[in-house]
Parts: sequence; structure tokens; C-alpha cells
Amino acid sequence: MIELSHIRKNFGDLQVIDDISLKVNEGSVTALVGPSGGGKSTLLRCINLLEIPTSGTIRLGDAVIEFAPGKKVGWDAVQKIRRQTGMVFQNFQLFPHRTALENVMEGLVTVLKWPREKAEARARELLTKVGMAHKVDSWPSTLSGGQQQRVAIARALAMSPRVLLCDEPTSALDPELATEVVEVLSKLAAEGTTMVIATHDLRLASRVADHAVFLEAGKVVEQGAADRVFGAPEHERTRRFVSSIS
Ligand code: ADP
Ligand code: MG
Repeated sequence: MIELSHIRKNFGDLQVIDDISLKVNEGSVTALVGPSGGGKSTLLRCINLLEIPTSGTIRLGDAVIEFAPGKKVGWDAVQKIRRQTGMVFQNFQLFPHRTALENVMEGLVTVLKWPREKAEARARELLTKVGMAHKVDSWPSTLSGGQQQRVAIARALAMSPRVLLCDEPTSALDPELATEVVEVLSKLAAEGTTMVIATHDLRLASRVADHAVFLEAGKVVEQGAADRVFGAPEHERTRRFVSSIS
């Protein structure tokens, strides 16, 4: 459903993503793992064009965009890709002056122009799915980190994206609060939600992902079935990483 071909991303002279190709199947969960600075966030941000790749091709559903240095990327093409993705950030990024319910309704009302009643019903349904039905009227600042992240997940799902992109969704959380987020992501995975998750939390990755991609210095060192990559890594580099944090 998503296909990245020969993606490169430079920031000035610094090459951060170096010729990465990967496929994400519908209903699968892909974990991007590896050391800090390896390019996980940048690759994730290239998928929804928060970063514009320097070169390569991205296919997402029926949208295909080719990138080349100096080539302008049409706004329509960008919108077409963005509409199909939902993003969850490490630090939640909820709208602080809106309740949990309003946070989830926001995109439906302002972007999709849904009537408020319909948007509210959908938002309540999603907040129930992430175990936040009891907190619909709460302000973000009164919620725990785990609760805020669950609202952020509901908000990302509201637009019915084809793929949910999560950047270190548990990294800002204490282990106990991380667990409730892992539970929610794992439930979504079981329901067939397509996800790409950048994380250095191997517990999250091994619990939720079926495919794992190990990135270092902007390159794929190793990729394959998650149990295989985490259980019996082929490359020395992956082996060291897995044993250092498990
Ligand atoms: P990870 O998520 O694996 O920790 P990142 O994708 O955040 O890695 O970063 C990969 C590299 O790209 C790092 O060297 C980082 O400093 C660099 N980088 C990321 N974003 C930018 C940017 N906007 N400008 C310049 N360098 C960046
Ligand atoms: Mg990162």
C-alpha cells in the first residue's frame, strides 16, 4: 500500500536518508528501529511529506510522487498524500485550549466540513476505542501523558487515514503510562490498522509490529519479520542494538 523507492533526503550537505526502499502492506505494522540520529523520524516525515525527499518515489495508495533535486512538488499531490496519513508525535501536540472531544472533532469539522453532531458522534466513538470515553470533556493539561497520547491517537484516526504514522509514541512516557499506549496500538494492530512506528522501545516494537526495519546512518541495515529481526538478528550491528536495550 505504501512503497518507497530509492528515497534520499539531504539537509544541505548532510545526507540523512540514503537510498531507502521499502514496502508497507495493507494491515501490517512496520517498526522503524535503530540508534538515535539514524533517520527514523526523517523517514517517517518523508512518508507524509512533512519533509520533502530530495529524490526517489513514494507511492501511497493510488498517489505516486517522484522527487528530484530542484523539482517542484505540486500542492495537490502533497494534499493527496497527507489526507491518507495520520500522525502521532512523541509529545502528543494536542490543542491546549480544546477539550479531548474537541481535539478529535477538529479535523472533521474544519477540514472535512462535517456537521458538528456527526463529528461529535465519531469523536466519541474513537475516544471510546482508545479507552478515553470518561475524559471527553477534559482539557489536555489535566490528562496524564498516556491519556494525552491516547487522545492524540484518536485524533489521528478521525480522518480515517490509510496509514497511521507514529513517531516515538511512548518515549515521553513513564513505563506504566507507556503500557497503556502500547495496549491501544496493539488493539489497533489486531483490528488491521496499517501503521509505521518509529521507536527505540523494543517492547512496543516487538509487541505491535510484524515487520521491522533497522536503520543506521540513513541506511537499512536489516529488515524482515519482526520476531526474526528482534529474536535472531542477522547483522552484528542489529544484534548489538537488540542486546543493548533488551
Ligand atoms: P532518529 O529519529 O532516528 O533519531 P532523525 O531522523 O531525527 O533520526 O535524524 C537523522 C539525522 O538528520 C540526524 O543527524 C539529525 O541531526 C538530522 N536532521 C534531522 N532533521 C533535520 C533538519 N531539519 N535539519 C538538519 N538536520 C536534520
Ligand atoms: Mg526520531
